[in-house]
Amino acid sequence: MAPDRSAPPDAEPYRVHAVRYATLETLRSAAFLGGDPSGGTIRLDYFVWTIEGNGRTFVVDTGFKAPVAERRGRQWLRCPTEGLRALGIDAAQVQELIVTHLHYDHAGNLDLFPRARLHLQEREMRFVTGRLMCFRHGSFSGLIEQEDVITLVRSLFEGRIAYLDGHAEIAPGLQLHRVGGHTPGLQVVRVWTERGWLVLASDATHFYENIAAERPFHAFVDLAEMFDGWRAVRALADSPEHIIPGHDALVMRQYPAAPGLEGIAVRLDAEPAFSGMAAAAAASAPGH
Ligand SMILES: [Zn+2]
Repeated sequence: MAPDRSAPPDAEPYRVHAVRYATLETLRSAAFLGGDPSGGTIRLDYFVWTIEGNGRTFVVDTGFKAPVAERRGRQWLRCPTEGLRALGIDAAQVQELIVTHLHYDHAGNLDLFPRARLHLQEREMRFVTGRLMCFRHGSFSGLIEQEDVITLVRSLFEGRIAYLDGHAEIAPGLQLHRVGGHTPGLQVVRVWTERGWLVLASDATHFYENIAAERPFHAFVDLAEMFDGWRAVRALADSPEHIIPGHDALVMRQYPAAPGLEGIAVRLDAEPAFSGMAAAAAASAPGH
């Protein structure tokens, strides 16, 4: 069923920010399934996102901590909660946290949000406590931090997890949709803004190039679901310019910085300066 593209009758447009907290220059051949003939590099930026409006504040994902960055060789810029504070959001007071999935770079600071209700797909919790974690290496357990799962189980017994199964509207003009693929319970966020329905795709597409050139990221649990997820993301967003990838460094160049926060936070509900999707398609074209 095609998603309803009309304005929600009961919601004002939300303000949406991407907050960058870490970065990594890596080989393109290590980023894409099947490698890459170019021998070039690609930059991954690491983000959390904020959604504000209708009297509420939602934070999407929580990033990782400095020791994890060090162990995994990522360049840590600042704690994600510092970026949030610069936007006027105190993590300790946040009431609503959307967790797109439970990889280390998305669920690593849950302890810094002690009051938040967590919106998480039940399937994702089953994944990080299930049989695939019995394999101690590789792209299943290798991308999960044990401490994050323990923190999560604590928040479960504190009554703070709101489990989802599939699609849900958690506030007027704010929807979560499970797409899976990268992890079983990966969900994307569809949010109503001044410029229409925006999709925070998280790791349904790490880069514009994944979705634009139909080239999967190297880590996934279900490749077919990843391809289906691209179709779902395209259908949920009002245009390709309404899709926000999870790790693309272009995002910081496309969107205007929040006042005084150059290099830290950009405003995603503003018009982009150029098309990230078109730039990625051109970069990926044969002969480039
Ligand atoms: Zn990620």
